[in-house]
Amino acid sequence: MFLAHRIRLDPSKVQATYLARAAGAARFAYNWALAEWEHQFEACKRNPALPKPNEAALRRQLNAIKRTQFPWMLDVTKNAPQMAIMQLGRAFQNFFEKRARYPRFRRKGANDRFTLTNDQFQVDGKRIRIPKLGWLRMRETLRYTGRIVSATVSRTAHHWYASISIDTSDAQLPPAENQGAVGIDFGVTHLVTLSTGEKVVGAKALRTLLDRLRRLSRALSRKAKGSCNRKKAKAKLAGLHARIANVRANGLHQLSASITRRFHTIGIEDLHVKGMLGNRCLSRAIADMGFAELRRQLVYKAQRRGGQVIVIDRWYPSSKTCSCCGYKLDALSLDVRQWTCPGCATYHDRDVNAAINLRNMAVSPTVSACGGEGAGPVLHAQSETGPCEAGIQRKVNDA
Ligand SMILES: [Zn+2]
Repeated sequence: MFLAHRIRLDPSKVQATYLARAAGAARFAYNWALAEWEHQFEACKRNPALPKPNEAALRRQLNAIKRTQFPWMLDVTKNAPQMAIMQLGRAFQNFFEKRARYPRFRRKGANDRFTLTNDQFQVDGKRIRIPKLGWLRMRETLRYTGRIVSATVSRTAHHWYASISIDTSDAQLPPAENQGAVGIDFGVTHLVTLSTGEKVVGAKALRTLLDRLRRLSRALSRKAKGSCNRKKAKAKLAGLHARIANVRANGLHQLSASITRRFHTIGIEDLHVKGMLGNRCLSRAIADMGFAELRRQLVYKAQRRGGQVIVIDRWYPSSKTCSCCGYKLDALSLDVRQWTCPGCATYHDRDVNAAINLRNMAVSPTVSACGGEGAGPVLHAQSETGPCEAGIQRKVNDA
């Protein structure tokens, strides 16, 4: 299993300058190759005898000219431009296979990163060795053991990080304490409601820090373009954005860790996050919650404990069905938080009832794996979510 550990770096000023230059070389190579790709593609349309652009040829082409045309590129690791062009090749492949949009040019400030292959760096305790730079301090030691695959050094706000990916066999964690099942209902007032009745509010990082964000954005917009003060205001704003992301990520990691530690089988609803973000009243609150990220974490963390995440079809009426007797309401508007079942007179909390239904669906015996090799038809016909992620089982509402 491949795992990555992102570690904060502690570069000196000189070292930070090197990292910025290596990231600059990677960005330049990526953008050069993208422009060249488009150019060659046009030429090939006019004259079909010409070869189609590809990343290997572009790397050779850049290698041939960099000594004379871009000599500054030689000051940093040769991996930076090379890996950037390979990444462009992958971006095009993802585009051709309809997994991603057309590659875009990288921007300074937003895409400051470069990648090293495992023969180009060394990790030893709390330090990492980068070619043409030497040893660099890291804030922690590597969390996993195994074969190191690659490292990506990147900048977020004014901090540098190395994300080291490892092919590890010790990814397996002890199985969940409670081998039972849980259903999870996602919401806006409460991030999650569990079928056990627990409700977790969630960090709501953006909402808490929104005033400060607005103030800093306004301050930035008042500064003259190109001025030193604008640069400072920009750095401050970037720092706050990074803080919001950290607070959110921390909350989600703690929650997903606690759920996967406790339960083996996890039933969740297949949320149409993109569609919900289209709702302008709710979009900020939903984006602030980070449902998609939470789901991603639940899946890989459950996998590491031998558990499973079962995704229940989006059209399954989890809120409108009584979890005691199965009575189905015709309608239940969003502002109704509690209701009494006309069938069996049970008084339901809307979210807890939905979570219990999801748990019941997850443990019912009609689970079928989705897509993949010989797993039968994709049951999830109504969704446009595309190919299924590994380790997810899906279920449809057969009613
Ligand atoms: Zn009922």
